[in-house]
Amino acid sequence: MCQRNHIKLISKTKKYTLHKIHHEFLEKLRDIYPEREIKSIFFIVLKSVLNFSNIEYIFHKHESIDANKLPEIKTIINRLKKNEPIQYILRQTEFCGISLFVNKHALIPRQETEELVEMIIKDVQEKRNRVNILDIGTGSGCIAIALKKKLPKSHVTAVDISRQALKVAIKNSHLLKSRILFKRVDILKKNHPLYKQKFHIIVSNPPYVLSSQKKDMHKNVLEYEPEKALFAPDKDPIIFYHKILEFSKKHLATEGSIFFEINPMLKNEIIDKANSLGFKQLRVVKDMNGKERFIIILKEKGNRVLGRGIGV
Ligand code: GLN
Repeated sequence: MCQRNHIKLISKTKKYTLHKIHHEFLEKLRDIYPEREIKSIFFIVLKSVLNFSNIEYIFHKHESIDANKLPEIKTIINRLKKNEPIQYILRQTEFCGISLFVNKHALIPRQETEELVEMIIKDVQEKRNRVNILDIGTGSGCIAIALKKKLPKSHVTAVDISRQALKVAIKNSHLLKSRILFKRVDILKKNHPLYKQKFHIIVSNPPYVLSSQKKDMHKNVLEYEPEKALFAPDKDPIIFYHKILEFSKKHLATEGSIFFEINPMLKNEIIDKANSLGFKQLRVVKDMNGKERFIIILKEKGNRVLGRGIGV
């Protein structure tokens, strides 16, 4: 049961009502975030520091908070003012209903990526198979862990080039008691430990932001999230997709699928590359904002020689 021993009706601290703190968030952060976002950050802090829900706020907003909690809240506001993402400040985020630890070594999981996970779960459940899943560039481990939670019979391998990111992912898998095989792998290199296996699902949300898009990005992303996990190399922005497709030619089981999260600006290049490597069954899926955000690629049965029959 939740205990609310930090909220006390202490007249001395009367000036720090929940309502006043809410107001302070709006005042101090209005140059950084739009009002709607400040409100949702405020409610995240309220939940995390004071264990109060949005609804409880409405009923208790004129009550004062425990003065001992004030310094923590002030520190959070100051860090937010320096554009630090709330998820890094609290070292916690939510993904597919799971609470994950995060720090600056891994990207903060995005809502779009939840949609990617949901599509995979649906696909696997429809086929009712025990599947071997590979997540390339796992970061915080969000995709791999959410899949393992929802598809407990599956065997999940998750890889990343960054040792520090893997530490985050491993910590999350321990916290959530999720059995996942983690490996440090540079997918751009040829000989790595994955080359002995076959997978039914290969999923990846690789770095795909273009440097030309930097100007449209918020400081909280640019100054705090790992550049290596965000930006595609200028020289060859689809290199990760290319290498994963090449890897999949051998290591994706027949009738298995690749699930990519993509940058809509790279859609055509990725499709051309997949086609040229022999992948002909592709589907582009929009995210909740109407952006072409995912490509699902099915590996067909090979072109068998059909004797005298007529191939289609
Ligand atoms: N979609 C993320 C963003 O806009 C980037 C994720 C990625 O590069 N894979 O910040």
